[in-house]
Amino acid sequence: MKKNRAAFLDRDGVLIREVGYLQDLKRVNFYCGNIEALKLLKQKKFKLIVVSNQSGVARGYFTEDFVRKTHRLIQKKLKKYKIKIDAFYYCPHHIRDVKIKKYFRNCFCRKPKPGMVLKAKKRFNIDLKNSFMIGDKLTDIKLGKNTGMKTFLLLTGYGREQKKMIDKDTKPDYICKNLLSAAKIIIKGEKNEKK
Ligand SMILES: [Mg+2]
Ligand SMILES: [Zn+2]
Repeated sequence: MKKNRAAFLDRDGVLIREVGYLQDLKRVNFYCGNIEALKLLKQKKFKLIVVSNQSGVARGYFTEDFVRKTHRLIQKKLKKYKIKIDAFYYCPHHIRDVKIKKYFRNCFCRKPKPGMVLKAKKRFNIDLKNSFMIGDKLTDIKLGKNTGMKTFLLLTGYGREQKKMIDKDTKPDYICKNLLSAAKIIIKGEKNEKK
């Protein structure tokens, strides 16, 4: 069976605007150009998979239920444009400043650990080598490298600050202004491949 390719997207600072710990659904907004970016990726048959650290759950800032509500709202907003995120994965755990005991865990899913990506890989039969990790933090880049993907650091969200801290282990394959410019690079590579 032919394997699928995926664009793994960080949520806050990549798919939706970074607002610190998101606690209000009114603050769920896409960056300019993101709808077009998702459309381009979808047209090329990329699975769209969100992987997000949500330690705010462990810290007691919001509930898992709120995280799921946020994801439902994102889907609803995207539906207008006939776009669907194939799956949302999130890690609610942390090991510091934990208020809600059951989320105190040195887990395998918190980025840059590969848990969420490996789950998606299995579920969607993903060819990671030909897939992309797109994030605004160096933990996203590390995750992409850990799992053998090509990596994009975006300058949205925390990207500009994070860019200054790049070292030899966190050097992204590409640094892009936003998701749309990353999507265009991915699509362009696509055309070259087919020649
Ligand atoms: Mg982020
Ligand atoms: Zn976790």
